[in-house]
Amino acid sequence: MNINNKKVVIIGSGFSSLSAASYLAQKGFDVSLYEKNDTVGGRARQLSKGGFTFDIGPSWYWMPDIFDRFFADFGKQTSDYYQLDKLNPAYKIFFEDDVITIGDCMDKISEEFERIEEGSSKYLKKFIAKAQSNYDIAINEIVYRPGISPLELVTSDTITRVDQFFKTISQEVRKKFKNPKLISTLEFPVLFLGAKPSKTPAFYSFMNFADFGLGTWHPKGGMYQIIIAMKSLAEELGVTIYTNSPVEKIVVDGGKAKGIVVNSETIAADMVLSGADYHHSESLLDKPHRQYSEKYWARKTFAPSSLLFFIGFDKKLKNIEHHNLFFDTDFGQHASEIYDDPKWPSRPLFYANFPSVTDASMAPRNHETGFFLIPIAPGLEDTPALRNQYFDIIMKRFQERTEQIVENNIIFKNSFCVNDFKEQYNSYKGNAYGMANTLSQTAFMRPGLKSKKISNLFFTGQLTVPGPGVPPSLISGKLVAELMMKNN
Ligand SMILES: Cc1cc2nc3c(=O)[nH]c(=O)nc-3n(C[C@H](O)[C@H](O)[C@H](O)COP(=O)(O)OP(=O)(O)OC[C@H]3O[C@@H](n4cnc5c(N)ncnc54)[C@H](O)[C@@H]3O)c2cc1C
Repeated sequence: MNINNKKVVIIGSGFSSLSAASYLAQKGFDVSLYEKNDTVGGRARQLSKGGFTFDIGPSWYWMPDIFDRFFADFGKQTSDYYQLDKLNPAYKIFFEDDVITIGDCMDKISEEFERIEEGSSKYLKKFIAKAQSNYDIAINEIVYRPGISPLELVTSDTITRVDQFFKTISQEVRKKFKNPKLISTLEFPVLFLGAKPSKTPAFYSFMNFADFGLGTWHPKGGMYQIIIAMKSLAEELGVTIYTNSPVEKIVVDGGKAKGIVVNSETIAADMVLSGADYHHSESLLDKPHRQYSEKYWARKTFAPSSLLFFIGFDKKLKNIEHHNLFFDTDFGQHASEIYDDPKWPSRPLFYANFPSVTDASMAPRNHETGFFLIPIAPGLEDTPALRNQYFDIIMKRFQERTEQIVENNIIFKNSFCVNDFKEQYNSYKGNAYGMANTLSQTAFMRPGLKSKKISNLFFTGQLTVPGPGVPPSLISGKLVAELMMKNN
């Protein structure tokens, strides 16, 4: 059948949906995308108030090569759409008794490691060299595979490092590094994958190469610029985008998806793709058509949810960088309160992002835009009183560590937590970034891109392959589009 007559409807407008939409439209499919919210972008939407601009989800631009590859697939480059700057320093980590600054190149980072632990830079260079070869293998041989067969993980390179899949990143880091601050610094990047470092395979040290080797970047105007770019690319390719269009049902007849119901109207389609959270997407199907039971989802390790604060300050702040991690409490205890015994953390670690430190367009003149994030277990009770209690906890610590008083300079404050993730994105238990990449939740062991029950129904996004994060979501969109083309 002629592709040009084939109609694809896509649910959601996050990175994965926008990515898939462009690949499918490029091949000539007639693509329409339906987003429940009033703007596109999913978890990466932006909030603008009184001259302050907040990215309300992702803020770390890592793996610039993946973004380059995405745009290159359409004969474009990122600079056609947004200006990208490498941050220096990349970020700062506050500990109880010291601050570690991560520079924009290995020489600066090595110097900082030496300052903390003499002789450690020698091990760091070896560790990062191994991380780089893992990165090359991951990007060139693994992540661009659709997660259909275990054989996708078997290559001549992975066979020789099979131990890397069974050892954890925690064990790997502790082999050579003894200083707890350096250990935390090296364990930080895998937190993006949603699980504890002690549950994350050592092979994922490729995230350390992404961090120290490739660096931390910032699109001028914020991460939402990528969404604007992808929307514009998709529309250039002919994709029609509908916002305020919550999908209420996926219509199935005779074992095939026939279309979707949006605002009570049935829209017919030859193929249906959902980039909404997988659990929610399946809830749009009648029960017999669902692949995964509630028990299945309950057994899975989800990435954390988050308590977020968006704060406008009426002055410039001191002693901060664009990205700041507050690791001045016990990481083990906080992690255990997320994964082992879910409860509100007793002494939370947190992250603070001030994009206006490097990008004047993000705040009014002489003001600062601040985004604070506390990772928490998904599904926790979420009340205004709890949000306020935790705001006070982190504000106190922030002021102590950065040696300044800022609480009287807050002129804008907004928060976002479990209930908002559920209500705004139909997120399972209010997770922030999908399903964790543990060993048993890697590649073919993740929820599939293609329904096992409905031949023309597909899924994409951070709950499926390759996993959580913006770069994986771009890849997920590409992978599902390729499967759909084959299915055609
Ligand atoms: C607070 C936070 C911080 C993060 N930080 C980073 C970071 O620094 N760097 C990084 O790389 N990644 C980060 N991530 C992860 C990254 O943002 C996500 O992995 C990515 O945005 C997920 O994209 P997606 O396409 O899978 O899903 P989503 O962005 O969730 O898109 C799904 C879309 O489906 C829509 N939808 C749901 N139900 C329906 C329905 N019934 N009908 C129509 N539409 C529907 C939703 O509204 C949403 O727009 C962060 C995430 C969060 C939440």
